[in-house]
This record gives sequence, C-alpha cells and structure tokens, in this order.
Amino acid sequence: MASVSAPAYPAGMAAEGYARTDDEIRQVLDLARAGLHRYGYGKQLHPEDLARPWAQAGTWKDNAWLSGVRDLLEWVLGERTDGPLSGHEPGHRATLDDLDEDLADIDDAMDQGKYTPPDPGWPPPQAVEAMNHTLAWLQGEYPIPPVCPEGEGAYGCSHKGYFGGEGVPAAIPR
Ligand SMILES: [Zn+2]
Repeated sequence: MASVSAPAYPAGMAAEGYARTDDEIRQVLDLARAGLHRYGYGKQLHPEDLARPWAQAGTWKDNAWLSGVRDLLEWVLGERTDGPLSGHEPGHRATLDDLDEDLADIDDAMDQGKYTPPDPGWPPPQAVEAMNHTLAWLQGEYPIPPVCPEGEGAYGCSHKGYFGGEGVPAAIPR
C-alpha cells in the first residue's frame, strides 16, 4: 500500500461506485442480520418450502428477503468473494458493474415459482426481490434502505409507508 494517510476516495464512494458509504451499508447489513436472528430459521431452508416459495408464511418470505439483503451486502463489503445470484467472482471488491453482471438474470430469478419452477441453484425469489431493491438503493436510484429500522423487510414491516404500504416496492428503477 503506497499511502496510508488519506484514502484516495471518500468512504463508500470509491471506484466501486456506490451511492452509500460503507458505514451506511454496514448499518443496513447489521439490521438484516438482527432480523434474521429474530426469525430463527437458520441457514438451511427446507427444499420442500423452497419449491413453493409463494405459499409460505410471511415470516418465511421476510426471512428470505433479509437473507438476500445480507448476501448482497456481504459481497459489497468484501466479506464474501462470490456474487449471491450467479456466483460471479471478480477477484476484487465488487463494483456496481460486478453487481450488474452477477444479477443479470434478476428478472427471471424474481419470478421463480410463478410461471416456472424455482431454480435450485438460485436463492428464493423474495431474496432476489430484496437484491433488486438493495441494488437500486446502492445506485442511489431508490431512497429507502431495504431493511426498516427494526430489522424487517418488505414482507414483515408494518411501519406505515416504509415499503410503500404494499409490501414489495412495485417499480424500482434500475
Ligand atoms: Zn418495520
């Protein structure tokens, strides 16, 4: 490392291109982890539940949402090397371009279980919806973080207006 006195870029605004600082990103990651801990589903979801992701309880769907936030933000912060949807490994901290590459099939992955069976290689569709929301937040195109201040996602939050009042944001700009 050539210089340790001053970072080349403000935190979070480095070459990765995120509109949020690392501190902001970490706060949301911590909220997602707290929510996952509260739900208590653990790491493994039952295959028979994953095969019918839209028939599950609200807590299951919210758990899936929060896991999507966690997995994407861990990659963004460099805590994991592979992207959460396609397994893209850039060999450096993921940039917004890397997120676009990893999430190239995001529309199909969000629709799993609606018109086609879920893909066992993909996270649950609600997790992918959360990645879509999280991406738009990281890009600065959507102002609301993907986890509410009490660690709830779009399927579990009852804060009026936080997620637009209808659960999943209907149209997130990409
Ligand atoms: Zn809430």
